[in-house]
Amino acid sequence: ATPMSIMTATGRGALAGVLIRDAEAMERFAKVDVLVVDKTGTLTEGKPKLTDVIGIDPVTETDLLSAAASLEKGSEHPLAEAIISGAAARQVTMVKPVNFEAITGKGVRGDIGGIIVALGNKAMMQDLNIDISALEQQSIALQRDGKTVMFVAMGTRFAGLIGVADPIKETTKEAIQALHQTGIKVIMATGDNERTALAVAAKLGIDEVRADVMPEDKKALIDDLHDSGHKTAMAGDGVNDAPALAAAGVGIAMGTGADVAVESAGITLVKGDLTGIVRARKLSNATLSNIK
Ligand code: ADP
Ligand code: MG
Repeated sequence: ATPMSIMTATGRGALAGVLIRDAEAMERFAKVDVLVVDKTGTLTEGKPKLTDVIGIDPVTETDLLSAAASLEKGSEHPLAEAIISGAAARQVTMVKPVNFEAITGKGVRGDIGGIIVALGNKAMMQDLNIDISALEQQSIALQRDGKTVMFVAMGTRFAGLIGVADPIKETTKEAIQALHQTGIKVIMATGDNERTALAVAAKLGIDEVRADVMPEDKKALIDDLHDSGHKTAMAGDGVNDAPALAAAGVGIAMGTGADVAVESAGITLVKGDLTGIVRARKLSNATLSNIK
């Protein structure tokens, strides 16, 4: 490897909004055949908007949203932001949570005005023994639409659900197609549920979907791919993606995401948009053929 060709290539990459850590990352990326991508914040804008609030009598929509938004004051998750902005726009009162707790990949929990409120996915409700079947049909319909559904429990009772929609980034579909053309298979790995994940994947032509995955499952998926002889890259934006980013042949962080994701990355997409990966791939291919 001539140091000069690599320096020129990494320099050119930086201009195009792609930071490549070193020559090794560059060379490895040319050989990648599978890219694992996180959904929220990577394929989608990561700026979900509140769309649906359904309370279960006697809990009103306002009660439900007030409790949920208050709880999310303790969280920095994009879903938290959606719920808080939605509540603010509807002029719903919020308080600060007490004993706030975030359960990675599942949701959040805390004391709101003396009631223990839990907000999160199906797995979280299962952990708490909350029966969510009362809103099953509504929840399925929202998920088929590509929306993320979160369930709310107050004390030991199921109180309702909240739906948010996270638009797909304008550039994502084109980037996936271009990556396919450079010989890369794309697998979505998301903590979100399968129905929502499949709805988003279908719109994008994603090859394979792993839904309901915990952060350690994302890492296990990378390990499995390595065991079956694949050369991997993983793109993600969150704290929850850090173990998988570190395990992947090439970790690709969204520059707009969590610092911890950027720290474990071989490639950083400054603008947080997947077209940067396509540029990095072309750059690394060109560099590798210069070296050969
Ligand atoms: P992704 O892999 O799509 O970025 P995460 O692992 O961050 O997703 O979250 C997985 C799921 O856990 C979310 O889809 C949501 O249902 C639930 N969840 C995580 N954090 C929160 C939160 N702060 N509020 C509500 N739900 C949450
Ligand atoms: Mg994410």
